[in-house]
Amino acid sequence: MTGTPHPVSTRRQRLTGGLLLLGLLAAAPVSAQPAEREITRVAGEVYRFRNNGHYSVFAVTPDGVIATDPIDAEAAAWLKAEIRTRFGKPVKYVIYSHSHADHASGGQVFSDTATFVSHETTRVLLVRDRVQTPIPPVSEAFATTRTVSLGGTVVELIYLGPNHGDGMIALRFPKERILFAVDFIPVRSLAYRDFPGAVFPEWLDSLSRAEALDFDILVPGHGPVGGKADVKMHREYLEDLRDQVTRQVKAGKSLSETQALVNLDKYRDWSGFADMRLLNIEGMYRMVSAAR
Ligand SMILES: [Zn+2]
Repeated sequence: MTGTPHPVSTRRQRLTGGLLLLGLLAAAPVSAQPAEREITRVAGEVYRFRNNGHYSVFAVTPDGVIATDPIDAEAAAWLKAEIRTRFGKPVKYVIYSHSHADHASGGQVFSDTATFVSHETTRVLLVRDRVQTPIPPVSEAFATTRTVSLGGTVVELIYLGPNHGDGMIALRFPKERILFAVDFIPVRSLAYRDFPGAVFPEWLDSLSRAEALDFDILVPGHGPVGGKADVKMHREYLEDLRDQVTRQVKAGKSLSETQALVNLDKYRDWSGFADMRLLNIEGMYRMVSAAR
């Protein structure tokens, strides 16, 4: 809300204003919280940016900043101001992990200084799905791998195949031995809901390829930072889920019977166990059934 009421108003205007105010009060969410944002150093020149439950990373080089997912316009404006204050550097690159709006929105905030880079599929999906308005053009799209170099820093952009969706890339920061991977390698966490948009079993192949990369620190787009072992753990979780669900589908069990019979107790300490367990089984049941 901006502006102040005109001091001289007719009764009708006052009445309308009063009703408007009442309406606004009634519509205002009771527990609207300001966004929780922070910047933490992961290692070396790589920092992690948090906006509530979403995270991206950026590298501060002598010649400017290599940023990743802008998350949304308000988050990106906050990040831009913080980077200017703390580091005094412009954002020279914005690299999209994938096209989903909850990670890729807000890029326009950086369009005065940045070049935008993504996988070629993501370039198409950003436009098709109208992820931002206006959409800064992705001027550097690629199909398999490419590197971004700035101020003596090299970042590797690696396409590992379809998984959580298509057009997803992982970013490797060789100096800090960091891998930034969004939405397809949750750290000690079940998968999101019923695998919307997932490409399976290709997802497993992309996890095996990630396991073969040279890194120590895994930085996901949600939740805590992990390590290389977390990639293997998530692959083994998906394989366990697939194998158990497949057994029940082959035995002719219904979805609800399968949800009762699949035992995921060994993941009970993982986040999302209570909320996502039945949905993960449902999504896997759908994917396994479709493949038969
Ligand atoms: Zn996503």
